Amino acid sequence: MSAENVLKKIIAFIGKDTKAKNESKKTIVVIRNIIISILVYFSINAVIGNVIKDIRSTVFYIVFFAVFAGIFACSYQFKTIVTLWMFNVGMLAFILAILNFFGWNVGVQHFLIVMLLLYFFSGYQRYKQKFAYAAAICVIRIILFYLYQNRTPLLPLTSSIIETLQIVNTVTIFWCISLIAYIFSRDGQELEGKLVQYNEQLEKQANTDKLTGLYNRRKAWEYLEWVARDRSESCGFSLCICDIDFFKKVNDTYGHDMGDEVLKKVAGIFEEEMSGKDFVARWGGEEFLLLFPGCNGDDAYVKLESIRRKIKDMRIRKDDIEIGITMTFGLAEHDYSKKADDTIKAADRKLYQGKEQGRDRIVY
Ligand code: GH3
Ligand code: MG
Ligand code: MG
Repeated sequence: MSAENVLKKIIAFIGKDTKAKNESKKTIVVIRNIIISILVYFSINAVIGNVIKDIRSTVFYIVFFAVFAGIFACSYQFKTIVTLWMFNVGMLAFILAILNFFGWNVGVQHFLIVMLLLYFFSGYQRYKQKFAYAAAICVIRIILFYLYQNRTPLLPLTSSIIETLQIVNTVTIFWCISLIAYIFSRDGQELEGKLVQYNEQLEKQANTDKLTGLYNRRKAWEYLEWVARDRSESCGFSLCICDIDFFKKVNDTYGHDMGDEVLKKVAGIFEEEMSGKDFVARWGGEEFLLLFPGCNGDDAYVKLESIRRKIKDMRIRKDDIEIGITMTFGLAEHDYSKKADDTIKAADRKLYQGKEQGRDRIVY
């Protein structure tokens, strides 16, 4: 087996889910990673003990290595919370033992911070419980300070060994804190990113007409209300409602699919021709609403005329059939003395007039 495969197997083993069905895998994986880091730390300390020929210290770390290896094995059998508490008790026992044997200056009391973080990030407890736990850790830290700061340890070490152990402890504690913060912040940020994306997707779906991909009537109203409130454009806006001529005939003669194809092609022309602040939406059925902010009726008429010609010249093909269509446009100018609703009604009346007058035209 290659080294890469061995590594993959180890990672898969550490990442194995908990036995309990309704538990998050993340917490137990973090706990296992922390235990592995602590096991490495014990091994380094055991080796240091061996180098300095302090057999007591080597034996001491081997004993704790065995205890934490046992807790690691238990993580595959018990609920996460049980493993977490075994870790906490083991860690506290380790801190007390080191303080008694080797003294305050070795710096193991900082492992309390690792315990605190691990408990806070593992999501099983309510916040009241978490703060109670934090307070307890804080009290323990203060008591330990008064008990051990000036006490002579049972097995005093030389100052150079204490310095070495201080560095090993600092590195291990920083590593554990970074690991916990990294795993939990990474997942939180990833989830947040996904939610933002999902919300954008939902909003887009709620505002979009499925067939044509244009904005729908809901979005058109929203935009209309916004543009009617915005008085920064000196000449208001122009609004047009347009409707495909004899569309029912297209459906009846060539089928509903051909009708859909016509709607998509017409929408394509609108999107090509409308620019900048211009806004287009499917108003309903074969009707569309076009809005030209900051554009008076005459300018909008010129734009609409170009659109009307393009639509008239367009050929729509489906299954060897080719057809052409026309559209009628009702155009009205909006000024701020009117309500948006009144302008829509005015454009609608013009559209009706255009139909009466023979279709394929703009009435303004
Ligand atoms: P006019 O020139 O007076 O507008 O005549 P018209 O036939 O276009 O008007 P009418 O309102 O009688 O017909 C509109 C038709 O549009 C009826 C409806 O079945 C069809 N329609 C509405 N929505 C869709 C759609 O999404 N797809 C298709 N294929 N047809 C649609
Ligand atoms: Mg209609
Ligand atoms: Mg029609």
